[in-house]
Amino acid sequence: MTDELPRAGHAVADFVQGYEEGHKLRGFRCPKCGFVSATWGMACPRCGGRNREERELGQAGRVVAFTLLTVPGDEFLNDAPYAYVVVELDGGGRITGWMPTVKSVDGLAVGDRVHFVPSYKPGVQFAKEADASP
Ligand SMILES: [Zn+2]
Repeated sequence: MTDELPRAGHAVADFVQGYEEGHKLRGFRCPKCGFVSATWGMACPRCGGRNREERELGQAGRVVAFTLLTVPGDEFLNDAPYAYVVVELDGGGRITGWMPTVKSVDGLAVGDRVHFVPSYKPGVQFAKEADASP
């Protein structure tokens, strides 16, 4: 195995805390097969390659799954109900996030366009794109 191990300073905790640094979403790309991931891993989930290039992820994407949370954790008590979403970002990478503006299951649909909204709250916040295509 000639692949390098991840560099020091890329511990999981460091990554999670630096997730939205500079109001940008950070992720990783596998230089071997091009797979883009929003989550840190020791190896590429597609090809097993050990090199991971850090890269900026798309700021918008499409909802691929969601649920409505009515009984959230303490930090989000005042925001419930809200949608907990899985978003396929433009350019690759799936990321989980939440949408405080969605108050019912009728307020969102799989396939809806959403964009990242930097927030002081924990988690990755998304909002519907104003000019969403049908
Ligand atoms: Zn790969």
